[in-house]
Amino acid sequence: MRIDLHTHSRASDGTQSPAEVMRAAAEAGLDVVALTDHDTAQGWAEATEAAESLGIDLVTGIEVSTRFEHTGVHLLAYLPDAEDPDLVLALDRVLAGRSSRVPAMLANLRAAGIELSEDDVRRVSAGTPATGRPHVADALVARGVVADRAEAFERYLNPGRPGYASRYAADLEDVVPLVVAAGGVPVVAHPWARSARPVLTEAAFAQLRDLGLAGIEVDHQGHDAAAREVLRAIARNLDLAVTGSSDYHGSGKVDHDLGCNTTAPEELARIRELAVNARAART
Ligand code: AMP
Ligand code: FE
Ligand code: FE
Ligand code: ZN
Repeated sequence: MRIDLHTHSRASDGTQSPAEVMRAAAEAGLDVVALTDHDTAQGWAEATEAAESLGIDLVTGIEVSTRFEHTGVHLLAYLPDAEDPDLVLALDRVLAGRSSRVPAMLANLRAAGIELSEDDVRRVSAGTPATGRPHVADALVARGVVADRAEAFERYLNPGRPGYASRYAADLEDVVPLVVAAGGVPVVAHPWARSARPVLTEAAFAQLRDLGLAGIEVDHQGHDAAAREVLRAIARNLDLAVTGSSDYHGSGKVDHDLGCNTTAPEELARIRELAVNARAART
């Protein structure tokens, strides 16, 4: 049983359509795959249909952009009701922040001598409501300014680089209970992969668990063996589920191939059971 609980499609910043991601997942020998686009459930319908015809098991999800202690944290929400009004409202605010950041990034790039238009970005991001830095990166690639996304981030889009602009993200301590209230199961994505390691301590995880956090994405390419070991111990101490996943972005992210990390069947069973309970608890 091969289970990968974190992938992206063109509904956000992946490079394949939701159906193509499902096909790639089946070809990679996965039995279960979660589609977890950034801040949107837009890809679910297409993925559901494709998964059904391929005979692969789809877990619907959303990777929500949140903030904790002034630091960006990605929260995976599994199996929520995507039409829950409070969840929709929270996601709409994040999506609005993403949209208004694009002109800010373009102005910053212009000040650095690089002319890129909103149309240039629209051409490479068509179809997503969650426009992000990877789309600006793709527009830079299309213009021949850089060779690939990695170079675009290094030279222009990472914090401190000339094209960077910050954006709104929802408060993690609000989103965790909100996901549960929407019938979903919240799991912190790649907690120590980037800048959040100092704030996501065991004490912080304990506090988040009391708000309804269900698990930690331990096995992720952004975590080395030592980090995984410590995170696994924290999850064990706090009785949180442990997940593993690829964070696949098609050709948009190297070294994140489908199935490169996987989740144990009993951990997925636990997530599914929590989702059933969360649904049942809704009034
Ligand atoms: P944003 O949410 O718009 O700020 O963009 C962040 C997203 O960019 C992350 O979720 C990753 O998918 C992607 N990303 C970050 N760094 C890189 C990189 N070096 N190469 C490719 N994609 C990246
Ligand atoms: Fe991404
Ligand atoms: Fe992420
Ligand atoms: Zn992701």
